[in-house]
Amino acid sequence: MATVDLKDVKKVYPSGFEAVKGVSIAVPDKELCVLVGPSGCGKSTLLRMIAGLETISSGTVAIDGKIVNSTGPTERDIAMVFQNYALYPHMTVADNMGFALKIKKADPADTASRVGRAASILGLDKLLDRYPRQLSGGQRQRVAMGRAIVRDPQVFLFDEPLSNLDAKLRVQMRGEIKALHQRLGTTTIYVTHDQIEAMTMADKIVVLHDGLVEQIGAPLDLYDRPANLFVAGFIGSPAMNFIAGRVEEGVFRSASGLTLPLPEGINLAKIPVGELIYGIRPEHIRATISQGIAGTIVLLEATGSEIFARVDCAGEEISCLFRERLALKQGAQMRIEIDRACAHLFDAKTGRRF
Ligand code: ATP
Repeated sequence: MATVDLKDVKKVYPSGFEAVKGVSIAVPDKELCVLVGPSGCGKSTLLRMIAGLETISSGTVAIDGKIVNSTGPTERDIAMVFQNYALYPHMTVADNMGFALKIKKADPADTASRVGRAASILGLDKLLDRYPRQLSGGQRQRVAMGRAIVRDPQVFLFDEPLSNLDAKLRVQMRGEIKALHQRLGTTTIYVTHDQIEAMTMADKIVVLHDGLVEQIGAPLDLYDRPANLFVAGFIGSPAMNFIAGRVEEGVFRSASGLTLPLPEGINLAKIPVGELIYGIRPEHIRATISQGIAGTIVLLEATGSEIFARVDCAGEEISCLFRERLALKQGAQMRIEIDRACAHLFDAKTGRRF
């Protein structure tokens, strides 16, 4: 068990490209910390620096209080699970799982018992004699995790481990990884670009963008109180509506003239006169009968459990997500009401939330 501490970590590749621009993250013992962000934001680079697979240009990485910047990957007591599983094709499941212990010249009986224990945790007992080519994607993924578990490391690192699986299996495996973490309690850093994966698995999420941290917090904190426009737009699906405009006479007025109620609890004295962005999540909009904002339904998608609608309100298209069965028709008029308690205002220039 261990803590992982990154202090002002930077990575400049030999090409001169600065992929990580000064990141500080403290991962306490037993935490499952998810690094999330769009493609190219530097999350894999950061994970590889923690693993020792990439040099650190400046700043420090400490594991259990000890700075490991110049410690080789094999001495860091870390196990990494990769996106492509990286299994040895000519070895059976049992040999793949026990390989790291074998090269450390561990006692074969102890290795066999550790492999057996990990196989039973992961439901691989009956597959130990198979080769990777004889396994499904989900089973290969489990073997890759088994290989990490067998080593009983201080820290697990996962680099997009589910991205090669189909949607259903991804949901199942993320549940399994979470359950595994609860059972073993090993400090874990997990990289994904999928915000749903981050929300459902993490104790703590670190949102990265362009080599920098945008926000660190518990999943629901990020959802309820995003620090800025980037986090507000990245966390949540379908994405939050953003409407540009200004505060005038106690209401928000969009560029096209749509009037919206100000978010609850907003201190008008702190709101500048200039351009603002109003933020409201699609699920925080209700359909109403007589009061509310009138609009035309320009798109309607019903999945059975919910209805997604885009409603043109005075020239602003607003995404709405209704959880009840409503008799709506594309092209028809409807009225919507915004839940002011869940609305946000952002500074259009800095992106910061008020
Ligand atoms: P993805 O989700 O697509 O894997 P990521 O957030 O994990 O993205 P990284 O792989 O960490 O991103 O890459 C961050 C940036 O660094 C990217 O712009 C990438 O092109 C660049 N980069 C990665 N490896 C190198 C390298 N060896 N040399 C130069 N630039 C690199």
